[in-house]
Amino acid sequence: MPLKQARLDRFLSTKLGISRKQVKPILAQSRVRVDDRIARDTQQLVNQFSHISFDAKVLQANTAHYVMLNKPAGIVSATRDEQHKTVIDLLDHPERHNLHIVGRLDLNSTGLLLLTNDSGWSRKLMKPEHKVNKLYRVRVQNPLNQAAVDAFAEGMYFKYEDVTTLPAKLRIIDDHIAEVSLTEGRYHQIKRMFGRCDNQVLELHRVAIGNLVLDTSLAVGKSRNLTAIEINGIF
Ligand code: URA
Repeated sequence: MPLKQARLDRFLSTKLGISRKQVKPILAQSRVRVDDRIARDTQQLVNQFSHISFDAKVLQANTAHYVMLNKPAGIVSATRDEQHKTVIDLLDHPERHNLHIVGRLDLNSTGLLLLTNDSGWSRKLMKPEHKVNKLYRVRVQNPLNQAAVDAFAEGMYFKYEDVTTLPAKLRIIDDHIAEVSLTEGRYHQIKRMFGRCDNQVLELHRVAIGNLVLDTSLAVGKSRNLTAIEINGIF
C-alpha cells in the first residue's frame, strides 16, 4: 500500500529532538525497532503505520483502518454537518472521528462508501490516473437509448470546470435502469451527464469501487471493516 514515506533518521531526529548524525550511533546500539525488527539503516523508509520504538518507549503505533458502509439516502457524506446526520454518525467504530471518506456520494445516493485513515490508499483509489472503476446502478426518468451510451463513451465537456469527462461506460439493463462505470468522480458527475442527455437520475447506487463490491449482507446504514484481501485486492 502506498503511504507517505520518510527516512528513519529524519523521523527519529524529529521525534527525539536530536541531529541526524546522532541517530547513527543509536541505531548501531540496536536501540530502535521498526515493526518489531531492530533497525540499523538510517535510510530505511517508514510510514504513518510503521510501529517504531526506541528502547522501551513507543514512538509511533498507528493502526490503519478501512471500513465499508452501505450508505442510506438522506445521509451526508461529510465528517460534520449542521443540518443532516453524517456517515460518521452511522459508524460503530472506535476510530470513526479519525477516518476520512474515500469518494463522496451525494445526499440521496446510496451504496458503497469507503472510509479510512490511510491517505495513501485513498489517494490511489481516487486519482483518475490510477483508473480505478466506480460502478453505479442508476434509475432514470426517461427511457434510455443508444445516443446516451455513445455520449457517455465519448466524454462530455463541462464548461464550469473546463474539463471533458473521461470515457464512461453506460450499459442499459432495461428501459429505465442502467449501469454506469466511471474512472473519475466529479461533482454530481452522473446526474450532470444524464442531464446532458435530457434525462433525470431518480436513484443512484454505488455497487463497486475497483474490485471491491458492496457486501450485500450488509444492511442499509451498517458498516464493517474490510478484510486484508479486500484492502489489497481493490486495485
Ligand atoms: N455521481 C453523482 O451524480 N452523484 C453521486 O453521488 C456519485 C456520482
